[in-house]
Amino acid sequence: MLEADFQVPALDHLWQQRPLIIAGPCSAETEEQVLTTATALAASGQVHLFRAGLWKPRTRPGSFEGVGSLGLGWMQQVRQLTGLPTATEVASASQVEQALKAGIDVLWIGARTTVNPFSVQEIADALRGLNQPVFVKNPLNADVDLWTGAVERVAKAGIQHIGLIHRGFASYANTEFRHAPMWHLAIEMKRRHPDLLFINDPSHICGRRDKLQGVAQRAADLGCDGLMIECHPRPDEAWSDAAQQLSPEGLRHLLDGITWRRQDAAQAACHAALEQLRQRIDGLDDEIVQLLSQRMKLAEQIGAYKKTHDIAILQTARWNQILDRILDSSERLGLSEEFIHRFLEAVHLESIAHQTAVFGKEK
Ligand code: PEP
Ligand code: MN
Repeated sequence: MLEADFQVPALDHLWQQRPLIIAGPCSAETEEQVLTTATALAASGQVHLFRAGLWKPRTRPGSFEGVGSLGLGWMQQVRQLTGLPTATEVASASQVEQALKAGIDVLWIGARTTVNPFSVQEIADALRGLNQPVFVKNPLNADVDLWTGAVERVAKAGIQHIGLIHRGFASYANTEFRHAPMWHLAIEMKRRHPDLLFINDPSHICGRRDKLQGVAQRAADLGCDGLMIECHPRPDEAWSDAAQQLSPEGLRHLLDGITWRRQDAAQAACHAALEQLRQRIDGLDDEIVQLLSQRMKLAEQIGAYKKTHDIAILQTARWNQILDRILDSSERLGLSEEFIHRFLEAVHLESIAHQTAVFGKEK
């Protein structure tokens, strides 16, 4: 075995690192490819954790399914030669055991595994009592509860260092992304788990390297703690996810172009102005909720009238009239049509629920 040239940083330190940059190939392919990538990434000084998939969950059989345990020795060499801690994906108890035995520092649960509570529980059970950092990628489907459930299973096994990876959600809708980012779900997950590390994976969101910069910056703007980005010495020749991987040089360029935002604006005294604006926002939110409550009370009166006169709750012509009238003013007010449409739809559904409750009441 090779002599350790570098001290691998303690994992507590890794968890404090901001921004935390995780990079490496989608899949470990050959010893040469793994070591070339890791050496270049370590030399950049911008990467803190080396990733490589050994066991690859592929959508269709027959695609390259990873080198498996053969790659564990390559990961050990990465650690010894570069000092970078290593991370890989695990999908079963046996993979957890093999990875831990080989000294892999960080494990992650992939999007195709997070969807399955049985598999997540199996992994959590295999980790019970160990102080092993684990990242949980979002499930492929847009279900935040499933994501939270996976985090809870890992946390209940006693794991203290848990990170979330936002890698986008499968969608049938036409989108410019490979996996739609659905930022609102990432925001909701961060709200639910404010103390967990929050990492963005633009590679699997974009599916193509020319879009990575924009998504990574968007994530930084929202206050993510770091990035996981796929990186290959010869991206176009990669055995998996070729179109989205960056060369080490491309990664350096991307990271140099990112503006990172401070996490905790409340700390600085000079943010009194921000605090004032937030107070005004809170005031407006209070008013909006009051107005909505008044609107629903009117809807209940309308419900009572319709019930007495045997008029149906849903009046499509009136609903269209409301939509047209308000949408007409949306642009002037600086609000997108899409937002107004979604907002009014939610208000309308709530109004129907109130009227339905009135219809259901005894006289
Ligand atoms: C990967 O990181 O290479 C991977 C398979 O990711 P995901 O689980 O997000 O698809
Ligand atoms: Mn990949």
